Amino acid sequence: MTPSNNDARPSKIVCVGKNYREHAAEMGGPVPDSPILFLKPPSSVIAAGDPIVAPSGVGEVHFEGEIAVRIGRSARHLSEAEAWDYVEGVLPLNDVTAREIQRKDGQWSRAKSFDTFCPLGPVVQISLEELPSLSLTTRVNGQERQRAQASDMVFSLPFLLAFITRVMTLEPGDIVATGTPEGVGALEPGDEVEVEISSVGTLRNPVVGEGDIGS
Ligand code: MG
Repeated sequence: MTPSNNDARPSKIVCVGKNYREHAAEMGGPVPDSPILFLKPPSSVIAAGDPIVAPSGVGEVHFEGEIAVRIGRSARHLSEAEAWDYVEGVLPLNDVTAREIQRKDGQWSRAKSFDTFCPLGPVVQISLEELPSLSLTTRVNGQERQRAQASDMVFSLPFLLAFITRVMTLEPGDIVATGTPEGVGALEPGDEVEVEISSVGTLRNPVVGEGDIGS
């Protein structure tokens, strides 16, 4: 497990929706037959410690703690068997979402793409054998809100990497986020949100209101 440079901005962040059964249920639907993919823009990325800015007038802004991976080398048409060789490491990610906009728009681009809506934590090498036992915990102001194991995912990481690279080339530095478990909820200015992955590390970010910037 070697922490590595987390400064480079990815060319894209590929996210998976509804990859845990209980979260799909809390969002009011079944788990899909195949992974639902969406993108967050590179401009949404912030580092650990940077503030998440809750925009004015968009309604509830939710945390979504997720297990993510950073891609180490260019990947296209991967098989599940070889997919993990293309992963540089695992990191905690917060797929911050303007939930009311997500429901209103019907598709997710605007709700997922505000500046500061993609905090990324430290990247740590993890073996494929260690992967299923990783646990994900999200806390708001120190209080636990989400807890899951990587083995709870509906679609495994090797499956997802094979699925995604049938669509698009993953470039070095690209991020793949694997979906959030149940327990999503609203963030308010003044909150602190933490996404922790066992054996990897903790991503911690304060939340500020749009009017607080520069103050
Ligand atoms: Mg998500």
